[in-house]
Amino acid sequence: MLVTGGAGFIGSHLVDKLMSEGGQVVVVDNFSSGSLRNVERWLGSPRFKVIASDLKVESLELREHFRDVEAVLHFAANPEVRISAAEPRVHFNENLVATFNVLETMRRRDVPWMVFASSSTVYGEPKTIPTPESYPTEPISVYGTVKLAAEELIKTYVRLYGLHALILRYANIIGSRSTHGVIVDFIRKLRENPSVLEILGDGTQRKSYMHISDAIDATVHLYLWALKEKASCEVFNVGNEDWVTVVEIADIVSGAMGLKPKYVFKPMTPDGRGWPGDVKFMLLDISKLKSTGWAPQMNSRRAVEKAVGELLKEV
Ligand code: NAD
Repeated sequence: MLVTGGAGFIGSHLVDKLMSEGGQVVVVDNFSSGSLRNVERWLGSPRFKVIASDLKVESLELREHFRDVEAVLHFAANPEVRISAAEPRVHFNENLVATFNVLETMRRRDVPWMVFASSSTVYGEPKTIPTPESYPTEPISVYGTVKLAAEELIKTYVRLYGLHALILRYANIIGSRSTHGVIVDFIRKLRENPSVLEILGDGTQRKSYMHISDAIDATVHLYLWALKEKASCEVFNVGNEDWVTVVEIADIVSGAMGLKPKYVFKPMTPDGRGWPGDVKFMLLDISKLKSTGWAPQMNSRRAVEKAVGELLKEV
């Protein structure tokens, strides 16, 4: 199994799972946001290898590491939706050019399976909530558009070259080793100033959150399901059935830190978004995921509480 972005937040948890199940794992990462520390426990293992490589750049050397790979779990990307309005080129390169290079390297080495970390942002602002996989995709951020473009590129490789693909549209994934997102932002701000908490947006943004342990479990379960079903290309929403507001998250973080800060709202758009391209309401329909015999262990609120506990020790 080859995990791109395997030194990052989700990727490294995936590595832990694959390694602890006895797998043979290659990580490809350029350490732009990931860290070797996240996978250091496996460094001595003969079943484990880390390749430092930037996937934006075509590399012939990299092809060697794709030899005999059963599946590429493509998790390398710049996941900061927030920067995508100001720096669209970063997302185009990190998330689309890199995906193309990965697909090309897989084609040259006949790698049969791709698991792709896509995102709920591909739906944009759906009128149907919870949103099923069949809902039209109309992203409102460059990040979402580039994820969708990557999905389409993968689907074309499925049609043209017989690749098998599992496309996973994740909700917000949270937990230990996360370096971005609302919980990390609140903890950092409250450590700097315990009496005031700046909240991006009007605080009414309401989204679905999933703990990393559930996200990894769902990912491995779906890959095994896809193998069993000999699936050609399947798209799944991976998230929770409930959602929480940003103010509720602020309350959970402040409560866990024993603080009662004054909330200062900073809407970045006239309708109270946290940044241009921020989707205010996100809840995925996970019926398709559940129909395969899997359901999350923790709801959004419990996932936030657990992630806050974990991140308070790390941030
Ligand atoms: P992360 O930043 O922790 O991990 C991304 C990893 O990719 C990092 O280790 C980084 O160094 C590496 N990387 C980035 N650009 C690279 C390049 N050009 N070449 C090689 N390596 C590169 O982010 P994450 O939250 O773990 O996200 C992992 C994947 O899941 C991303 O594709 C992201 O878009 C997707 N995703 C994340 C969430 C979430 O809530 N965290 C939600 C939906 C989708």
